[in-house]
Amino acid sequence: KRLEELNVADTTCGYCAVGCRFDLYSDGEEILAARPTAEEDAPVNGISTCVKGKFGYDFVNSDDRLTSPLVRDESGEFRTATWDEALERVAEGLSRIKDEHGGESLSVIASSKATNEDNYLMGKFARQVLGTNSIDNCNRLCHSSTVAGLARTYGYGAASVNMDDIESTDCYLITGSNTTEAHPVIGTRIKQNVRDGADLLVFDPREVQIAEYATQYSRVNPGYDAVWINGITRYIVENDLYDESFVEERTTGFEAVSEAVREFTPERVREVTGVPPEEIASAAETIAAADTCVFGWTLGLTEHSHGTENVMAMANLAAVTGNLGKPGAGVSPFRGQNNVQGGGGDMGPLPDSFPGYQDIADDEVRAKFEDAWDCDISPEYGYYTTQMFLEADEGNLRGMYIIGENSALSEPGVNHAEEVLENLEFLAVQDLFVTETAKYADVVLPACSFVEKTGTFTNTDRTVQKVNRVMEPKGDSRPDWRILQDLAGRMGRDWDYDSTAEIMEEVNSLTPLYGGVTHDRVENEGGLQWPCWDENHPGTERLYEDEFNTDDGKAHLQAVGYSEPAETPDEEYPFTLTTGRVLYQYHTGTMTHREEGIMEYTPSDFVEVNPATAEAYGIESGDAVTVESRRGEITVPAQVTDRVGPETLFAPIHFAESAVNRLTDETRLDPSAATPEFKVSAVRIAPA
Ligand code: SF4
Repeated sequence: KRLEELNVADTTCGYCAVGCRFDLYSDGEEILAARPTAEEDAPVNGISTCVKGKFGYDFVNSDDRLTSPLVRDESGEFRTATWDEALERVAEGLSRIKDEHGGESLSVIASSKATNEDNYLMGKFARQVLGTNSIDNCNRLCHSSTVAGLARTYGYGAASVNMDDIESTDCYLITGSNTTEAHPVIGTRIKQNVRDGADLLVFDPREVQIAEYATQYSRVNPGYDAVWINGITRYIVENDLYDESFVEERTTGFEAVSEAVREFTPERVREVTGVPPEEIASAAETIAAADTCVFGWTLGLTEHSHGTENVMAMANLAAVTGNLGKPGAGVSPFRGQNNVQGGGGDMGPLPDSFPGYQDIADDEVRAKFEDAWDCDISPEYGYYTTQMFLEADEGNLRGMYIIGENSALSEPGVNHAEEVLENLEFLAVQDLFVTETAKYADVVLPACSFVEKTGTFTNTDRTVQKVNRVMEPKGDSRPDWRILQDLAGRMGRDWDYDSTAEIMEEVNSLTPLYGGVTHDRVENEGGLQWPCWDENHPGTERLYEDEFNTDDGKAHLQAVGYSEPAETPDEEYPFTLTTGRVLYQYHTGTMTHREEGIMEYTPSDFVEVNPATAEAYGIESGDAVTVESRRGEITVPAQVTDRVGPETLFAPIHFAESAVNRLTDETRLDPSAATPEFKVSAVRIAPA
């Protein structure tokens, strides 16, 4: 068929948080084409897509797409059910636990793949209908240490920059980010800017693809990021290369930071991180000499038992060099899932915050939501996702409602997570497929993908963008917000939303950050960046131009000392395993494993092994090897490569058959953010 004969919708990508916009074409059955939106209508990215945005739609029509609800029959097997029966079973299951043990024995895991409007209602459902503050999302497993670290230092836990800043800066310091594979379109923009003369400094345990374009690549031992970052800050302070007027006028805590970094001498940094003194010096001098610098990171910095400290060390470095609040400069945590910024944080599916990061312990804020939602809300914080699985062990949590999250693969220590899911008194899962998590459910509710629904996503630079439906929901599947509305009705609450625009109006009225973010404006203006206080506010392209979001308007620099990973290699487990993503796959593969073309490129996970290690153990590329930690073991093909150092192994996270989270540890969590230490596990390796 010709494009003009097809349905078309201008929408936002549902894969990663770059937030590319494109027109999707459908004949009503399948997605047949994706064409980037004209650049003037799509300020974030309307000129290109990566392979996933362009071709990754087979999952929508996959044979194993859920098209009707499933309930367990007497024999324990799933059978199809009507929506009435399935929703009744969920309402009964959750209500029974609430009546017998209190709402706080229930939890909700919300979905960063779903829209802002869906996520707003997930938070409302947890607090108003279930009576629990234990609602959280995948953010806990990735960037919650970014949110904690940046909020403590600058006030907002989000990127300060916009896409233009990222594309036009003079210098990048990128760490723990495989940008070209995990955020492909941003990676392309960075590569272009580097070709045009920008400096690119990459610090990473793994020589990731973007390091090929770097002015300087420094290999670091995993787990010690604050050490090399503090080493750079020390060099800058001790050589008077810092931005004195910025520090004096716009920050507090400089003295304490100067004192704290003193111990990170070049020799100490080399001893701990493996980075030679001349590389610390050259990185410091490059940053100090640049007019502007963007500090970019992803999970290599955050998924640690001291991830919040790592982020604060980076925030200190950006501030002492004056790289905040001006064009081309700032901090840019690259967010992962398409809507983890909006759905995962801004909309308040969090155990400690209402939408817009309003603290549930604040009496005035809580009273506002109690009034609007007509319910009592406890001032006690609920459980973070990682804590939910530990608390379930103790009998403090008995039922879960998991929406669009594949916890049986994505939680740390999945052997433990599987046991918890198996033993819950009641589990409802809402998803597109019978995922590894749904296999443990009592009821599975079929949800829609982003091509079948309308709402908004918020991308990695805080831009709220419109999502528009291009085809009807597959089979009997329904948008998340409609499922939640039906369920709330069956549990005694009369929600009466007609559209996601109406839900956003409620968000506007309760959430100052989103005060002026209406569907009409988002659609007509091609996106809006928060904070957007009211209908006349233009949105905020760049944070901190005038002041920080703190009580005195200044950045509060935080002294960060030495800390080491919760588990370090020893004789028994002599290697450090670090984990990550590859370009063609997406998270636990629920969508990308249904893409034939993608599966041809990456049919399985693998483990990267340095040639020296391979030789010592008699391993060749393609050999099956067993990787074992104190928590479990997996068998995967080896890839012999010097991308990793001799003491490090790397494995992606995408396949159930070799679930790398059998090796990670569910108990070692960042004390501020409860983020697990995915990036450091002591392991051993052997030919299988
Ligand atoms: Fe989608 Fe991200 Fe690829 Fe853009 S870079 S098309 S947002 S997956």
